[in-house]
This record gives sequence, C-alpha cells and structure tokens, in this order.
Amino acid sequence: ASGTLKLQNSAIVGSRKLDAYLYYLLGDNLPCDGHYENLKEAEKWGFKISDLTRKCKTLQEVFDFIKYWDVERKNLPVATDGIVLKVNSLRQQRNLGFTAKSPRWAIAYKFQAEQALTRLNKVTYQVGRTGAVTPVANLDPVQLSGTVVKRASLHNADIIEGLDLHIGDMVYVEKGGEIIPKIVGVDKNARIMIGDKVKFITYCPECGSKLVRYEGEAAYYCTNDAACPPQIKGKIEHFISRRAMDIDGLGPETVDQFYQEGLIRDVADLYTLKTSDIINLERMGEKSAENIIKGIEQSKEVPFERVLFALGIRFVGETVAKKVAKSFKSMDALADASLDDLIHVDEIGEKIAQSILLYFANPKNRDIIERLRVAGVRLEADEEDTSGHTDKLAGKSIVISGVFAHHSRDEYKELIEKHGGKNVGSISSKTSFVLAGDNMGPSKLEQAQKLGVTIVSEEEFLQMIE
Ligand SMILES: [Zn+2]
Repeated sequence: ASGTLKLQNSAIVGSRKLDAYLYYLLGDNLPCDGHYENLKEAEKWGFKISDLTRKCKTLQEVFDFIKYWDVERKNLPVATDGIVLKVNSLRQQRNLGFTAKSPRWAIAYKFQAEQALTRLNKVTYQVGRTGAVTPVANLDPVQLSGTVVKRASLHNADIIEGLDLHIGDMVYVEKGGEIIPKIVGVDKNARIMIGDKVKFITYCPECGSKLVRYEGEAAYYCTNDAACPPQIKGKIEHFISRRAMDIDGLGPETVDQFYQEGLIRDVADLYTLKTSDIINLERMGEKSAENIIKGIEQSKEVPFERVLFALGIRFVGETVAKKVAKSFKSMDALADASLDDLIHVDEIGEKIAQSILLYFANPKNRDIIERLRVAGVRLEADEEDTSGHTDKLAGKSIVISGVFAHHSRDEYKELIEKHGGKNVGSISSKTSFVLAGDNMGPSKLEQAQKLGVTIVSEEEFLQMIE
C-alpha cells in the first residue's frame, strides 16, 4: 500500500484499488465518548469501517467473539492473526493513558499460530550487537502462513537441550507474534537415522573468543566487544538508528562498507569522516557522500537523552535513558555517579546501575565519550523548557483525587508543577486545596471536610490556571 501511494501516476494508483478502513477516530471535539459510537459516526460521514467490530458488555461476549473468529477468520478475504480489544469509553482511555510503548486501554489477542513440519539440516549461529549468540535452524523450505520459511530461531542452548535436537530431525515450525519463526517441537517418531546431537558452540563464530554465560541468563555471550566485528558494527548501527542519533543516509550496508574499508572502528570515528574519505567508495556518489556527512553533522543537535540511548549501554533503553538524563543532566555527572546515586533514580534497579558503572569503568568507553565531546555531540541536557510556565499556583500544596474528564491525572500533576504549585499525596492542614474529579475517594472527602480544606472541581481548576 505504501509503495502504491508513493507512485507519481495516479492512474496506476487508482488501478490498484486501495481502500481505507478507519479503526480509530482522533480529535478534540469528538461527537461521542465511546470509541465504537465515534466509529459509527464516521461511517455516517461516508468513511468505511469494519463491519466485524463488536461492542461487548461482558467477558463472555469477548471470549465468544474470539472463539467464533478463530475458525471463521479463514473465510475472510484478508489474512489476520488476532483481535484488538479496546476499552470503549474515551474518558477511561484518557485516564488509563499509555506506557512508553503502548496504550493501557488496548490489548491484542493473538490466535494460535499455524505450524508446519519440516527437516532440520543445520544449525548456524548469529552474533548480535550485545554479543549474544543466537542459534538459527536451517530448514528444508516449507510453506507457513503464506510465506516460505527456510530459517527459524532456536533461542538458546536450554531450548536446544530441552528439544533433544538432532540434525536431520523433523521439526515443528511456528510463526508467532514475532517476524522470525521458531522451532516449537520435534517429531521423534519420524526419526529414522539419528544425526548428530545439536551442541551449542563454545567459541564465537565471528572472532573465536570463548563464549561465556552469565548467571541467571539463558544466552551465551561473546565478550570480545572491542574486536568482534558484528558487535562493533551492531553498536554503530544502533547509534545511527532513527530513535537514537537518526543519521540520514547511513544504513547497515554503508556501516558494513565503512567498516570493511577500515574507516570506522567505533561510533566516535563517524565524526572524523570527510566527504573525500567516502566519495570514491563503491556504490557511493557525490550526492550520497555529502548527505551522509551532512547527516552526521546534524546529529550533533540530537538531545543528550538520545545520545545516552545511542551509546547502547546494556539495559539502558529509551525510557531508562530519559530518566537517567533527566536526573543527572550530563554525561560527566553520570560517569561520576556511584551505585548509590544511580539506584536512587526512579525505576533504576541494581542491574541497570551495575551495567552503567561497568560501561564507564571501561577506559575505551571513556575514550569514545571524550572523542564525541571533541566532535561537538551533546553530552548535556537542555535547560528545561519553561515556556507557558506561570506562578499562578505558587506556594500551593494540591492533592488530586478522583477521575477526570479533560486531562489524565499525570497531566494534572504536570499542570500543577508548570504553574508553580506542588502536588502532594495526602490531605493535611497544610493542603491548599483538593483538585477533585468524579468519584473522589470517600476517606479523602471526609478528611478534607474535617480539616476544612477547599475542594476545587476540574472546571474551576482549569479556570484558575487559564
Ligand atoms: Zn566474537
């Protein structure tokens, strides 16, 4: 569909008969409070919606729907692997909000995946960015849910051991929610001649280092991160990726090419590249060479929290990087932090803290950071954005209670801080007022009345800060 939409010739686009079905209606002034009711409105306006959507009132209705479609989906004109369940009330959706990755008011139900039986020919091993070694099953090609599968993940040594896997075995392959299919079982009755038992390798297939297994972890690792090619390239690929430094024009193939040419050995090397270094490489033109150098230059504007994420410190994903950046505000402060300093940060546990300490204890990493600093990469957090801030609530201690229609609780907490007030958890004689939505807790209400604390409604509050 996306390829079709990019075409210049509208006649060809028209001939492909693309269609659009709405699954959600977004907007500030929606006609109804219900997700389902809004879709029905959209249908009246002339949009297409799926006529298979159902509004359920009980769990039983949900299960019945799932059961029905588990069979009936095979007669649909499109492939489907599951059902999305959503909370209908938009007000409840707002109150539930989002995690870093997904809404709390929607969940996917996946149908049992289809399986296929095929022969295991060989097991090969892939080394990832973190040094984790993944076993890959090489199979006789087999049809599975509309595609031909030739390779499948075997996850780790325990799974191989648990399956008692031998070369030549007939294995069950399944495509679950992941893109990569996996081996889920062996048909031992089909064993005519027993091939070699599959034994997990003990040395890295890329650099020859002895593999190690950390306590409590299923994976084997190659720890030679400074010289193991896929680890070096993987770190650079992560660094340039869209959610990290977002360097335009650079992709895995280019990173591989630069690495082969000896132009880059770590992420800091990117900032020493010049157009003249890369312009004569194969498949590279003047234009793309300039774009890459420009992209690298622009990445110096990427905010500190994303630089921190881009470094690829183990267990420091996007959310953790944000928290850490907000709390330490600079790479230097973070590098000097003790275990105690680190675990005092919200949601940072010992495992993450140890990993950060380990990262900065390595002189090679310190060196990379120094070279990034020289290059002009941002190693400090921005001054906080203070636009729209007022002191309308200065000196006020405010308790939030109940369910709100216009904003979520978290948004109200932010609004209070933005206008100079302080959000506190429990009502005391020092509380300035209670911001109360629907269904305020009865004990809070009683406490407020006893202490004579004013109760402010959502609308009154919004007028106060207007
Ligand atoms: Zn290695």
